Amino acid sequence: LEESAAAAEVVFRSKLPDIEIPNEQPLHTYCFAKMAEVGSRPCLIDGQTGMSYTYAEVEALSRRAAAGLRRMGVGKGDVVMNLLRNCPEFAFSFLGAARLGAATTTANPFYTPHEIHRQAAAAGAKVIVTEACAVDKVREFAQEKGVPVVTVDGKFDGCVEFREVIAGEELEADAEIDPDDVVALPYSSGTTGLPKGVMLTHRSLITSVAQQVDGENPNLYFSKEDVLLCLLPLFHIYSLNSVLLAGLRAGSAIVIMRKFDIGALVDLLRKYNITIAPFVPPIVVEIAKSPRVTADDLASIRMVMSGAAPMGKELQDAFMAKISNAVLGQGYGMTEAGPVLAMCLAFAKEPFKVKSGSCGTVVRNAELKIVDPDTGASLGRNQSGEICIRGEQIMIGYLNDPESTKNTIDKDGWLHTGDIGYVDDDDEIFIVDRLKEIIKYKGFQVPPAELEALLITHPEIKDAAVVSMKDDLAGEVPVAFIVQTVGSEITEDEIKQFVAKEVVFYKRINKVFFTDSIPKNPSGKILRKDLRARLAAGIPSA
Ligand code: AMP
Repeated sequence: LEESAAAAEVVFRSKLPDIEIPNEQPLHTYCFAKMAEVGSRPCLIDGQTGMSYTYAEVEALSRRAAAGLRRMGVGKGDVVMNLLRNCPEFAFSFLGAARLGAATTTANPFYTPHEIHRQAAAAGAKVIVTEACAVDKVREFAQEKGVPVVTVDGKFDGCVEFREVIAGEELEADAEIDPDDVVALPYSSGTTGLPKGVMLTHRSLITSVAQQVDGENPNLYFSKEDVLLCLLPLFHIYSLNSVLLAGLRAGSAIVIMRKFDIGALVDLLRKYNITIAPFVPPIVVEIAKSPRVTADDLASIRMVMSGAAPMGKELQDAFMAKISNAVLGQGYGMTEAGPVLAMCLAFAKEPFKVKSGSCGTVVRNAELKIVDPDTGASLGRNQSGEICIRGEQIMIGYLNDPESTKNTIDKDGWLHTGDIGYVDDDDEIFIVDRLKEIIKYKGFQVPPAELEALLITHPEIKDAAVVSMKDDLAGEVPVAFIVQTVGSEITEDEIKQFVAKEVVFYKRINKVFFTDSIPKNPSGKILRKDLRARLAAGIPSA
């Protein structure tokens, strides 16, 4: 029976031939492989200060960061937390930790103390590298656990300055690194539940980067002549992988921007003649609509990538009206998938014609299939089902969570994305829905389970469910269905404030609907579909 089921599997592969992927070496060695060719070329440019570092300097600084982190007690198998907005030190620290055989867990510096502590504790962070805006939020945790705190932008009581960390000698020799050692540990809630540590190894990240930029006609063509804009946060794997690591591998110059601001963006585009702009849909919307960005400002750009959230055909077409001489396309990623599953083949060196609204074609050296979410049966072209991916780029599992790992990667090695989509006649993938509960606010993850767990700690809340609601600006926002305890007079505003104190801004509850009960299946699982249907029908409080 099993044999015939396997025979009926429809597996989709890239239209481009597979390549040799050198994934038996350390990630940093792979990224700096072209040093002889690019050593004296610009590598990282700090858009805010104008400070520029060549490839040779970045490599040397990563060795110094490694030596400094080792002096602070970091060794093989340890975890360093980067709690940073985009800055060159992010890269020095990440690459330095990699040289020691340590992993970096990345988090948003605008997280609340509660969110930071939870991740730092779960990941077992040995050192926290952060900046002024977050330093006070880590103090208590750091003191309690005896974790040193490093700051990149000034001196703070009880903290070490990053410039002291890199002041000493370079590390003489990297640690002995196994390709299956974890190097990045981003947090993601995946298809269900609370955020979990996603274990990405040297092998998985090399595979993912190679799938994008290696070979004769790569899926994503960056060259050493390109200037990449690094505006998306490096604490999210999309930017860490497809901008920083892919950019390093290609030998491109990478212009780092700390935060999104239209005026600053226009200045950087013009000053550095940026050629590649990786964006997320809300930024594409803003640029398409803003009278402050002219076609002239965008003239140096030859490629605009969008990912992390859906971008419809209308938006894609509206943006193209402004940037007619560039290629615009989507990538499709998921943290657990390394993260890139698919990339628009209009980005290839010898480009293919692609359709608006498609999120790309599966990357090389990977297999993709679409399965019926109810029966698990493999589906053919133009049939929608759950997208599954297999290949060496995917995570090896969730940190200390074999149960969630088993529920995400099946026994045959397929990673189940929780996204619903189909593959058309030209191998292009279209995402049409989401099976999983995650809410994406401007591409940021908002895990409903986290908000529900928080809401029910309130003494006047008996039960709660959080689902997504469509929003013009953010794509989606979280809204809460609340069952009050008997006699409770709690208001919508009080509930919103209660949550706002504990979570980063994009996880704040946008609307509260009071209801008598939360619909659940017999095993107690919230029937989110029913709640979303109520929202769509305009009768949320029924
Ligand atoms: P994250 O792990 O934060 O990168 O989130 C991954 C999820 O974002 C995917 O599983 C999709 O639901 C969504 N996503 C990523 N890229 C796209 C895209 N191009 N179009 C639609 N949804 C996307």
